[in-house]
Amino acid sequence: VAKRLENFKTTIFTQMTLLGNKYGAINLGQGFPNFDGPEFVKEAAIQAIRDGKNQYARGYGIPDLNTAIAERFKKDSGLVVDPEKEITVTCGCTEAIAATILGLINPGDEVIIFSPFFDCYEALLSMAGAKIKNITLRPPDFAVPIEELKSIISKNTRAIIINTPHNPTGKIFTREELNSIASLCIENDVLVFTDEVYDKLAFDKEHISPASLPGMFERTVTMNSLGKTFSLTGWKIGWAIAPPHLTWGLRLAHSYLTFAISTPMQWAAIAALRAPDSYYVELRRDYMAKRAILVEGLEAVGFKVFPSSGSFFVLVDHTPFGHENDVAFCEYLIKEVGVAAIPTSIFYLNPEKGNNLIRFTFSKDEETLRAAVERMKKKL
Ligand code: GLN
Repeated sequence: VAKRLENFKTTIFTQMTLLGNKYGAINLGQGFPNFDGPEFVKEAAIQAIRDGKNQYARGYGIPDLNTAIAERFKKDSGLVVDPEKEITVTCGCTEAIAATILGLINPGDEVIIFSPFFDCYEALLSMAGAKIKNITLRPPDFAVPIEELKSIISKNTRAIIINTPHNPTGKIFTREELNSIASLCIENDVLVFTDEVYDKLAFDKEHISPASLPGMFERTVTMNSLGKTFSLTGWKIGWAIAPPHLTWGLRLAHSYLTFAISTPMQWAAIAALRAPDSYYVELRRDYMAKRAILVEGLEAVGFKVFPSSGSFFVLVDHTPFGHENDVAFCEYLIKEVGVAAIPTSIFYLNPEKGNNLIRFTFSKDEETLRAAVERMKKKL
């Protein structure tokens, strides 16, 4: 394996899913729905295939999809963007992040991430040769320590990666936090790369796109995808929205990473993004019911549960059960209890800081969530 990846292993999601499957565990680890996406979106994909929309798409997205993304972004954030010059369709949000990092970060540039973080940020920054700077968000509320952030920004800082609603904590960055981050970025000429794939799963607080704050659009890459919002994580349709000078770099990287994205799925994505508002209302309502089942269940089992106001994840402290660390606890949970979760230390630059925490997802049907809680009640 190349040196740039020698410190990385198979992703924790794959590891836990494989181990869970081996022991017949209920999978509340990897974040994907165990229910299907909406019929009208699936039908649109089938229709597009039948209609012969099967050759390469335009590299940065089929025109109608770029327009549909711009329309949704305007509705959600109030920002008017140019679908031709400021939107790039990618293979899921992960490729948007990869293209952004590889297209805009030079070796040695400092990039700030918040621990715990979604694992690909660290791996992709390593591939780009970036110098990773870390800020740890601490329970119970995982607030951004602004003074600490201020103290680590230097003239070499090129970007900050934000993820809101946040995986794995369920935190939604507040307007105050984002305003403070924004003024630091403007003052120090720092870019913001923001992963907003859970934006439609914001339950208790308003989701705010950092790009919508004054002076921020010109220095922000906003990334999102179809997967979580439409329960179609296998489709891998994502996008990056950025001003032309940033789009240029990320599009160059994108054109050599994947060149273009699945044509029929892009046609279906147009249908998805034009869903009426009632679709999103229902999605949120369903997810709030799932969250309630899981959170109440985990509390009844005896975990200390940290509040999750968005995403489809919840963090708990497993230490009341007396296992050595998060990895040992998750192995026990799979093998002896029959439930898979995700150990959280892997999401920290300094793993010890997260070894008391594990992550559960509530992206499963209610029956599955109840069955998992029952297993834990009986065997933990
Ligand atoms: N985003 C999902 C999660 O955090 C799935 C990630 C993955 O499997 N790479 O669980």
